Amino acid sequence: MNKILNYINGEWVEPKVSEYADVINPATGLVRARTPLSGAADVEAAAKAAADAFPAWRRTPAQDRVQYLFKMRDLLKSNLDEISRAITDESGKTYEESKAEMVRAIENVEVACGIPMMMKGEISEDIAPGIDEIMLRQPVGVVATIAPFNFPGMIPFWYLPYALATGNTYIVKPSEKVPSTMQVIFRLIEQVGFPKGVINMVNGAKDAVDAILDHPQIRAITFVGSTNVARYIYSRAAANGKRVQAQGGAKNPSIILPDADIDMAVKITADSAFGCAGQRCLATSLAITVGEARNEFCEGICDAASSRSIGYGLDAGIQMGALINSASKARVEQLIGLGASEGAGVPVDGRGAQVKGYENGFFVRPTILTDVQPGSEIWKTEVFGPVLSLMHVNTIDDAIALANSHIYGNQASLFTSSGAAARKFRYEVEAGNIGINIGVAAPMAFFPFSGWKDSFFGDLHGQAMDAVDFFTQKKVVVERWPKEWTRKF
Ligand code: NAD
Repeated sequence: MNKILNYINGEWVEPKVSEYADVINPATGLVRARTPLSGAADVEAAAKAAADAFPAWRRTPAQDRVQYLFKMRDLLKSNLDEISRAITDESGKTYEESKAEMVRAIENVEVACGIPMMMKGEISEDIAPGIDEIMLRQPVGVVATIAPFNFPGMIPFWYLPYALATGNTYIVKPSEKVPSTMQVIFRLIEQVGFPKGVINMVNGAKDAVDAILDHPQIRAITFVGSTNVARYIYSRAAANGKRVQAQGGAKNPSIILPDADIDMAVKITADSAFGCAGQRCLATSLAITVGEARNEFCEGICDAASSRSIGYGLDAGIQMGALINSASKARVEQLIGLGASEGAGVPVDGRGAQVKGYENGFFVRPTILTDVQPGSEIWKTEVFGPVLSLMHVNTIDDAIALANSHIYGNQASLFTSSGAAARKFRYEVEAGNIGINIGVAAPMAFFPFSGWKDSFFGDLHGQAMDAVDFFTQKKVVVERWPKEWTRKF
């Protein structure tokens, strides 16, 4: 059985704790590893290593720091297969989904290779005679990321390459549900040869998180996970004077207008709702049809849901994998029941799914709920499973008002062939990521990533220039050089 270790000060180390949790393959239900639930002493060791490494790392020229990222990018690319298998084996998603996730991770490393350009300062000469003003960007210090289970490879890379390239030293805490992917990635990071302490990993759950939130030497924290935990992370880290951004949960609406290409809307919405078994913060979970779009869309999406092949993500021809664990399967099935008890129709019911050869896997088949009512519990709650709720309204204004009445604002999509409708939607809808005839509006690494409303707590977002701003602090210098001093030159 694989034993998960921490990586601190350039060494693989045993945690200073005796408590471990099982890491389970969601398709087989079998334990594949044991992960430590590290505590304050382990976080202390990682923070000390990172703090000791910081002075030399920040003095390393940015163009030299990114040489490590070039090497990291090549290693991630040439080991894509091994990393993707690890992701599938512990998260349940399909091999193709795991590969696509790592392509996005690598894209972030590539963008961060441009940091020498992205973090350069600004100067204004002669703001008064002989006085110049200069803005410098300096790293924050020791920074940390707390990651969720659903993208074990990608999500740390929304931050890790930017943090390192801007001269910070770094600690990642993977989700205790999926710690093995980062073990594979850190074996590659070891080959990159960063100076000791520049990059560290602590495995654990709440105790490790609380120690990170309270550690005086950790200056900035990025978090991705559920909204209740995001709110907690944001308030506790901010109360401790840290820079913090926390991405939370979602309930993403897709609006289908009568002038849309309905076949396309069905295919894209099904991919969005059921891809990664619905365990994606950008998954569509509410489909709102307008006017005459209703019947054709409803028929099409029911066919798409019932024809999806499910199974172990490493087997050929599988379109959807398992949910992360038995608690998640039970919760999703219970929420389908709740929707039905609130009056929703269930024309495609994914409860009680069985996959031959994987009888102990945590599978729920794609599910469609119809006539879901605004304000009902199933409308309010993030399901985080392959469950799509259908709603119907008469006008685009009603649809946008319904979308905007939700507490979340991570993504919203519109299906239409009308430019005017698309512009109105993009202008009025309250969400951080917008798809027009797109179902998973995931920004490329050179755009910022974040939601709005209860999907995000903070200001600066992940990826690209926002990550550079987050991981650097600006310093403004005003200099006087009197003319009489410079005349002789
Ligand atoms: P989670 O909130 O349970 O866990 C996330 C991290 O927080 C983990 O590292 C976990 O160890 C830690 N944690 C959990 N409970 C804690 C507590 N009480 N105190 C301190 N730390 C705690 O989330 P998850 O189940 O791993 O991930 C799924 C959630 O993440 C969904 O809600 C999904 O929408 C969200 N998500 C959001 C985005 C986004 O960009 N907005 C992206 C991916 C996932």
